[in-house]
Amino acid sequence: MDTMRFAPGAVLGILGGGQLARMIALAAADLGIRCHVFTPEADSPAFDVAARHTLAAYEDEAALAGFADAVDLVTYEFENVPAPTAAFLAARVPLHPGARALAVTQDRLSEKQFVSGLGLAVAPFRSIDTLADLEAAVAALGRPSVLKTRRFGYDGKGQVKIAEGTDLAAAYDMIGRFPAVLEAFVPFLREVSVVAARGGDGAFAAFDVCENEHRDHILAFTRVPAQLRPRTAEIAIAAARSIADALGYVGVFAVEMFITGEGEDERVIVNEIAPRVHNSGHWTSEGAQTSQFHQHVRAICGFPLGSSRRLGRVVMENLIGEASGDWREILAEPGAHLHLYGKRESRPGRKMGHVTRVSPEPR
Ligand code: AMP
Repeated sequence: MDTMRFAPGAVLGILGGGQLARMIALAAADLGIRCHVFTPEADSPAFDVAARHTLAAYEDEAALAGFADAVDLVTYEFENVPAPTAAFLAARVPLHPGARALAVTQDRLSEKQFVSGLGLAVAPFRSIDTLADLEAAVAALGRPSVLKTRRFGYDGKGQVKIAEGTDLAAAYDMIGRFPAVLEAFVPFLREVSVVAARGGDGAFAAFDVCENEHRDHILAFTRVPAQLRPRTAEIAIAAARSIADALGYVGVFAVEMFITGEGEDERVIVNEIAPRVHNSGHWTSEGAQTSQFHQHVRAICGFPLGSSRRLGRVVMENLIGEASGDWREILAEPGAHLHLYGKRESRPGRKMGHVTRVSPEPR
């Protein structure tokens, strides 16, 4: 589809109404684009800032048809958009990123096969459909290893570590005996991600590689730049670019990676692709010349990409659960940029907001 026909005044449809949709809609508004959010979830954070919303199930074809008629193009804030929903919309209106990006990234097995097919390093893996497959795979890849469902895993859900004493039948039960992959355990020193944009014309702009610290499987801090050799950072960004080129990708995406080894032995191993704006890119709102949200809107509308240049050393801290209660102290802190997502109820593990702190680069 020709993406170059969009101009300010266009209406962008967004599937999903969480904080990512909210921040996309805010950026879109800066560029004169109005947003229409489609989600089955009442009281979604994006409703506060979007011109319109449709509250309906992703399987509701009448609602989807009305949505498609009301928008000029569609994007999404989560990778688990049902394939029939994506196909239904893509037949009526440009969908960016496209259905191929969704199909490849929704399934960990197809994602790993795709990434390793590009010649990029991934953790050794095996496909698991039965307990016998799991036993054979653990014999081949050893312990520790990590068992992950092929679909619907996020923030550590749908995965279990196979340690020395782990009973395999119990582990398989824990992930619901769903189709899965077993991955060799990667003894990583750092977790990093590349957040980047690709335009429909093949233009590419990556933000600096960032380093991620997870707590309880949830992103807690992102620090930029990552502590990497410049050559390793180049390799990480080149890996992200080859993934985006091979997918014919349009929009912002993130590639999560493990870094093993030190010095000359530093290596990049691709873990996961997120076909959307990503929590590890939130630092760009104040820490880069163009935010990931503006960049996404630019890319999918066929506008020129903005500069991804970093503006200092940046730390992004997620405010999870009760942590958002400190909003007053954060607002009183010079130079701290507070973002709250407008969620009514804080629950343990729920992302309520984030803070970004940018400091001058040491000379
Ligand atoms: P994922 O859902 O694949 O992003 O995994 C969630 C987290 O589990 C990662 O951020 C890592 O901290 C850890 N993890 C996942 N896969 C592996 C692996 N193969 N080896 C070591 N740690 C892993």
